[in-house]
Amino acid sequence: MKTSGKVLADQVSKIKDSDVFSIRSNNLPTWCPGCGYFGIHQGLNNAIQRSKLPHHMVVTVSGIGCAGRYPFFTSNYGLHTVHGRALPVATGVKLANPDLTVFAVGGDGDGLAIGGAHLPHIARRDVNVNYLLFDNSIYGLTKGQPSPSSRPGLKTKASPEGSTDKPLNATLMALSYGASFVARLFAGDPESITEALLAGIKHPGFSFFHIYTTCVTFDKQFKTWDNLKAWSHPLPDHHDPTDRKTAMNLVLEDDFAMGILYKRETTG
Ligand code: SF4
Ligand code: MG
Repeated sequence: MKTSGKVLADQVSKIKDSDVFSIRSNNLPTWCPGCGYFGIHQGLNNAIQRSKLPHHMVVTVSGIGCAGRYPFFTSNYGLHTVHGRALPVATGVKLANPDLTVFAVGGDGDGLAIGGAHLPHIARRDVNVNYLLFDNSIYGLTKGQPSPSSRPGLKTKASPEGSTDKPLNATLMALSYGASFVARLFAGDPESITEALLAGIKHPGFSFFHIYTTCVTFDKQFKTWDNLKAWSHPLPDHHDPTDRKTAMNLVLEDDFAMGILYKRETTG
């Protein structure tokens, strides 16, 4: 049954007025219906609400891309910055006021191509920033081109015969660079995103969240909801998240085990 304009307007108005959505801004997300980013949005908003962080003490910094629009859709402070530069700006924000809780957000094009050289440095400096990589393995905002994490064979208008390049593995990169907290998550499981973020917010160092997600508009081949749901599974019960080497070995063998892979033990 088709929803009438008035019913839809009433539903939107209820959402805007609801306390449950207090962390959201009055700008409703402009992502395509069904985009995986809605799940990440829900996971992050719930983490901010549950952690009881005052909104004025939270800053979200983004680069450019569909994920770069995120700061417009929340009521905390936000900076929509330059392509690939979310991490250096987030570092500056944290240095200027260490009391702030800082999130950097961006896609795989933004974070692994033009911004790819910033991840090793924020990891080795262990800046207390939480970085969410929205990895749908395609450039969405520019209407579908292979990205650095695309699988070989991905067919787009820019790669009609299928992409031939090997994909980067962002989880393995973060572990190799010495990130002190590394989680791999799925946009279709917002509750797990919230739980991992709550642990990352408490972690006194750089926290990296590699979130597998969909671009429902431009990738109907690999990272679809059906495929990601079928491929994703939890970490093995015996996984020791304090052992970086174990985490790296697991990631080398298993692309879809989800959870907190590594967390440096802290004292005090
Ligand atoms: Fe999401 Fe793709 Fe649409 Fe961008 S183009 S909003 S990534 S579905
Ligand atoms: Mg992308």
